[in-house]
Amino acid sequence: MRDLNLKQGQSQRWWTMPPKKKLKIELDPKQPQLSFYACHREDKVEQTQHETESSKEKKDTKEERHFQERWLRIWSWLEYRDNKMFCSMCIKYKKANAFTSGCQTLKTSSMYRHEASDDHKNCSQEQSLKQNMAHAIKKSYEAQDNAIIKALKVVYWLASENIPLSKYESFLTICKQLDIPGMEPLSIGGSNRVNYCSYYAANELLNALCTTIDEDINSLIAKSPYISVLCDESTDISNTARMTINFRLINPETEAVKSVFINDIEYEDGTGEGLCGEIIKVLESRNINTGKVVGLGTDGASVMTGKDKGVYGRLKALNPHLINIHCLAHRLALCTSQAATLKSLKNYQEWMCSLFYYFKRSAQREKQEAHGPHRSPEEQ
Ligand SMILES: [Zn+2]
Repeated sequence: MRDLNLKQGQSQRWWTMPPKKKLKIELDPKQPQLSFYACHREDKVEQTQHETESSKEKKDTKEERHFQERWLRIWSWLEYRDNKMFCSMCIKYKKANAFTSGCQTLKTSSMYRHEASDDHKNCSQEQSLKQNMAHAIKKSYEAQDNAIIKALKVVYWLASENIPLSKYESFLTICKQLDIPGMEPLSIGGSNRVNYCSYYAANELLNALCTTIDEDINSLIAKSPYISVLCDESTDISNTARMTINFRLINPETEAVKSVFINDIEYEDGTGEGLCGEIIKVLESRNINTGKVVGLGTDGASVMTGKDKGVYGRLKALNPHLINIHCLAHRLALCTSQAATLKSLKNYQEWMCSLFYYFKRSAQREKQEAHGPHRSPEEQ
């Protein structure tokens, strides 16, 4: 029967025909259904549109009832309290809009509209500018702090190497010439303003360092059960009388003994009373009870070791347990000078001194001594 229905020229293999193509037509959702045309009712259009809007409204109404937590993740400025939505940014910058008084239309469109508003855009720009400014200021402060740390290191190095602070300014100048990075903020403002390149700034930095180091030393003193005072008189290059004071301390945890430099003071009264008064002033400035001072180390001069009116005698009156120790190095020097009473020994000492100065005062002889005498080929 099938063969009879075939037209001429058509293949008899009807079962191998390709399947029918399914047409994919993208329908416009707004396009009315065919039933509409079949009905021929114009009012149907209005009815359909009304139905669409009604369903949208229903959806919106449903959305209005519930605030969704995920909105807080989408809009970082959004806050929700008392069934109202607020904009933290607009509140911060004191704007007056629906989101500062509390928006009750709990719809995503409210946020979109608010985000596009001038108020919110201005706030956003202001916030961004403030953040940039804060970042720039922070960076500037960091650069200044780093520069001051470098200046402190320079001052510390000068002090450690016994180089006068008057060389601080020229040291920074050579750093600048060598393009050492990070030193620029020290001279910002020029010479007419406050900067950290002057001799006076170096003094202030040194004082700051001293305060910090002093705090550490005071902490060690407080821990030590006993203290020995080592002091010696001398004069500086301006021939001013000075006395250096060092302490010997004990670390109670490690039982290790440590020497710390305390002060280098200028004094006017060189008597036992005057020197003892200076030592007591130093002890008082560090809240040290004289009962804690059990040792005194001196050069052995009578003004120091005098049992009544010397420093030792006056300090012993305050603490009977005080022991005086005559410095070993000073004693050795005394021994060697007093032992050489024979004339031949004195001659020998003078000859050795002359030999020393013979080389010391001639750069050429010193060099020859170091590298051996230069001989001509004939001499060899
Ligand atoms: Zn806002």
